[in-house]
Amino acid sequence: MTNDSNNIEQPQNTPSERRTQWFMYLLFFALLLLPSLINSYSTTKEIAWQQFENDILSRKAVDKINVINNERAEIYIRKAFAGDSMFREVFKPAFGKGVYTGPHYVIHIGSIETFDRKLDEAEKNFAANEKINVQYIKKSNWFWTAAGWILPFVLLLGVWNYMFRRYSGAEGGTGISSIFNFGKSTATLLENQQSNVTFKDVAGLKEAEMEVKEVVDFLKNPGAFTKLGAKIPKGVILVGPPGTGKTLLAKAVAGEAQVPFFSISGAAFVEMFVGVGASRVRDLFKQAKQKAPCIIFIDEIDAIGRSRGKGAFLGGANDERESTLNQLLTEMDGFDTNSGVIVLAATNRADILDPALIRPGRFDRHIYLELPNMLEREEIFNVHLRPLVIDNSVNSHFLASQTPGFSGADIANICNEAALIAARNKKDKIGREDFMNAVERVVAGIEKKSKIISPEEKKIIAYHEAGHAVISWLMKTVDPIAKVSIIPRGKSLGAAWYLPEERQLLAKSAFRENLCAALGGRASEEVVFGEVSSGGLDDLEKVTKAAYMMVAYYGFNEKIGSTSFFDSTGQRDTGLQKPYSEETGKIIDEEVRKLVNDAYQQTKEILKQHMQSLEKVAKLLLQKEVIFKEDLEMILGKRSTGKITAESGGENVAAMIHA
Ligand code: ADP
Repeated sequence: MTNDSNNIEQPQNTPSERRTQWFMYLLFFALLLLPSLINSYSTTKEIAWQQFENDILSRKAVDKINVINNERAEIYIRKAFAGDSMFREVFKPAFGKGVYTGPHYVIHIGSIETFDRKLDEAEKNFAANEKINVQYIKKSNWFWTAAGWILPFVLLLGVWNYMFRRYSGAEGGTGISSIFNFGKSTATLLENQQSNVTFKDVAGLKEAEMEVKEVVDFLKNPGAFTKLGAKIPKGVILVGPPGTGKTLLAKAVAGEAQVPFFSISGAAFVEMFVGVGASRVRDLFKQAKQKAPCIIFIDEIDAIGRSRGKGAFLGGANDERESTLNQLLTEMDGFDTNSGVIVLAATNRADILDPALIRPGRFDRHIYLELPNMLEREEIFNVHLRPLVIDNSVNSHFLASQTPGFSGADIANICNEAALIAARNKKDKIGREDFMNAVERVVAGIEKKSKIISPEEKKIIAYHEAGHAVISWLMKTVDPIAKVSIIPRGKSLGAAWYLPEERQLLAKSAFRENLCAALGGRASEEVVFGEVSSGGLDDLEKVTKAAYMMVAYYGFNEKIGSTSFFDSTGQRDTGLQKPYSEETGKIIDEEVRKLVNDAYQQTKEILKQHMQSLEKVAKLLLQKEVIFKEDLEMILGKRSTGKITAESGGENVAAMIHA
């Protein structure tokens, strides 16, 4: 579900929003600075008691004193002294003309008692009518009082803003605007409102393309259908494994129909706050209706569309998701069939979707995408090779043959990886070798030649891989082996590479032979060294899973019989509810253990019989580190391939078994 980030518009603050932000900041600073600004413009002078007593009081120039808040004494000088050279300065007004009426001086006092005492002492010789009038005033500072009220609110607002930015900003809302956009849809609209992807960019999805072409026709020319009374479908659901081109196909529909394309991930609806998801759904449909005809693409719809009522006993944590889903259902019912809004949704788990969502009238069309086959891979390679500079050795047919089980996204990734590898090696053109390196890198990670492995460990790895190789070579139905390597890559220490054949069915015997091939490494270690190492963990995991599938799902076991406990609807919580009795559970466990043990014994027997070949393969591996099919052919002779004899589901994924 990759997004083509290049052509998606990132929501940003508009210039007017930015201006408002700046204005708010400026206002805040101005408010902070206001009191000090006012103070700096008045001519009131601060003075010490001693100077006050000697220069002012003694000259009987004081008119009155106001003691403010028992903290400071504000001194007013008599008007008669305005012309006096000593006082001229304090009578000068800060702005304009006239006389400053005071306070002219200020004394900061320690305690009111001391001040009174000092003043009484200084006035000792004054006549009664000359005594200075002292007033005690309580004043509150309006600014700080106001700040005391406002600041907590500002702080609260700040925290609120921060939280909303974190939770909604992550989806694209930015800055102050995100506070107000919280319940709004976070769907992104493609640049120029239209997708520039067309069906030319989609390869190998012929059938799916045919189906969605209808949608394009509906969008382009709804009249042709409505004329006959037909209703245009409201929703199309694309189902398929990741990377098979669901997003790409949806974009191509929008591109072909030349209509706006809203893209959103199902997960983006679900927030930690209750009610947000539903409000986002409402908003998305409102926006879409304004832009109709258009396409809404909801990726990973299973995030909201999962069956309701499931997991309710886990504390009702899904209430929010359920209300989001209900809103989606309501919206899909609510809009007029011919309003021109078509909802495309993608998922890789159609089985777990709520039945109400996929009933006709909502998502009434289901399109299944699958991993591409050889021919389709070739077409996809052709699309992605188009922009690359390649040399003659690169051939899309060969590349397709080397990449069974790869998805369209894997192929796109390989093409890009090959270009990067070629560029790193300072080549002018990308060659076949770069593509092969890219395939290996994508499958198994980068080669780690610097990993320190002791000679003893190397020997164990070589025999382990040789074990896989020999058993795989001898077992007819196991996929053909292409190469064996003991160069560490990614997490693995060594690897056997297979080229799976494209098969839809795998017989019971083939399953068993594959078990043996996977156990080959461990068996080889035991046969050669008499002891097994921890290197076979990955193999054992695969073997155990496959064995359980054989017994419990495919009905390959005699005791369990033709019974399958597989649940294709995904409705059952397998961790808590088992579809079989305790007794049957025990039998399954026993039968799985027996199956794996038997396969292991058989593998060891085969290896003992082919000890010489095993030794040769391991020695060659130690010598060359990487050996190919041809080397194995020289040691083990030509390989005969098997036939499919019975029916069962098969997987055709590029297999890799590592030590
Ligand atoms: P999904 O949504 O199914 O997970 P995407 O549509 O996001 O997969 O596919 C990811 C990328 O893989 C696409 O951008 C495209 O480059 C490539 N891709 C996938 N399928 C195809 C295809 N059929 N043809 C061409 N490219 C494909």
